[in-house]
Amino acid sequence: MTEPQLPSHSSVVVIGGGIMGCSTLYHLAKEGVKDAILLERNKLTSGTTWHSAAQVRALRSSQNLTDLIRYSVSLYKSLEEETGQLTGWINKGSLSIATNQERLTFIKRQESLAKLFGVKAESISVGEARERWPLMNTEDVIGAVWSPDDGRVGPSDLCAALVKGAKSRGAKIFEDTGVTAILTKDGKIYGLETTRGDIKCDAIALCTGLWSQNNAKLAQVEAPVWACEHFYLLTEPVDAIQGNLPTLSDHDNHLYCRDESGGLLVGCFEPFGKAIDPDRIGENFEFQLLPEDWDHFEPMMMNALHRLPCLEDAGVKMLLNGPESFTSDGSFMLGESAETKGLFLGCGMNSVGVATGGGAGMALAHCIIHGHTPMDLHEVDPK
Ligand SMILES: Cc1cc2nc3c(=O)[nH]c(=O)nc-3n(C[C@H](O)[C@H](O)[C@H](O)COP(=O)(O)OP(=O)(O)OC[C@H]3O[C@@H](n4cnc5c(N)ncnc54)[C@H](O)[C@@H]3O)c2cc1C
Repeated sequence: MTEPQLPSHSSVVVIGGGIMGCSTLYHLAKEGVKDAILLERNKLTSGTTWHSAAQVRALRSSQNLTDLIRYSVSLYKSLEEETGQLTGWINKGSLSIATNQERLTFIKRQESLAKLFGVKAESISVGEARERWPLMNTEDVIGAVWSPDDGRVGPSDLCAALVKGAKSRGAKIFEDTGVTAILTKDGKIYGLETTRGDIKCDAIALCTGLWSQNNAKLAQVEAPVWACEHFYLLTEPVDAIQGNLPTLSDHDNHLYCRDESGGLLVGCFEPFGKAIDPDRIGENFEFQLLPEDWDHFEPMMMNALHRLPCLEDAGVKMLLNGPESFTSDGSFMLGESAETKGLFLGCGMNSVGVATGGGAGMALAHCIIHGHTPMDLHEVDPK
């Protein structure tokens, strides 16, 4: 995958080979930037992207953030035909359930918002919800909303397809190439130093996931990104699961569930997340995971056993614990930094990086080329 020789100059250098970097590179190349390159200090996808649950749910808090994900969906569907590389797109929809009146109001508001933003969503009865998720215990469920266009993707396959599309348009990828310094003069970047030599450049897309805070500092930029442990349980195959299921969101119990390789994947957004000391995840954190933490996951496990009683007999394959980057306002950062011209941030993805990545990479590339995002994205502008 790695090209033999680094160029001495590139108009745009993308740092980081996860979904954000691969998508940005693809869109730069598609927009005609012929000499764009991507530098990854380990291997492509080896940071957070490879172990993502990779669900793609379109509805976000605003029209434009929702449109970024709708763009992702159309891209993930079409990339296979364009590049011949599978992306693993599975369109099985998503189901949100409510177990109290406040939550029912919330998911019905989401349904209205979805319709306003042009996303398909409809309220369905508890009986219909059970038909879509027969393994679910519905004794305390009082309502549900069904979103048929949502799905999921294979994160590594998706990046392989984006990279193939980028390379076919002239972009180059350099793995095992870490950026060690960013060169600036008069408040503007003009190059960088890497473990394999120096490169002059006009713009940098910083797509380095949970390492973005340290990397941004190389260019005197603040990127307030913090790493947290992020969990999902994987089980051995469960007999009753035949084929793919929709993603089930049980917000009252902080859970999301779907099938995975014939078994169950049960993930959580627990009320009290677990921050990671940044020094624990160094430069060589490549295709690695963090230790299982059953004490931390136990309250979620109890909720999951209630919602999916079949878990009682399912063999546990693993409790996957991977690091992901979060920001204190829950918004990712996309756009040129306030401090240093030519340094563009595409990071802090708050566990929607795979869903948003297609659209966010498109918007970041557009911003680098044209000096502004293709739609109003002030809510994620780092400035
Ligand atoms: C358990 C779990 C479940 C998830 N589920 C979902 C989900 O269902 N849906 C969803 O949309 N998202 C989900 N996510 C989140 C999603 O996976 C991330 O948001 C996304 O993968 C982040 O991609 P990225 O490109 O920003 O970062 P990364 O994939 O971490 O890529 C950053 C890359 O930058 C490289 N790098 C860092 N510093 C340097 C340097 N100095 N020089 C060169 N390279 C450098 C790193 O080696 C790394 O490869 C989940 C995450 C986890 C952990």
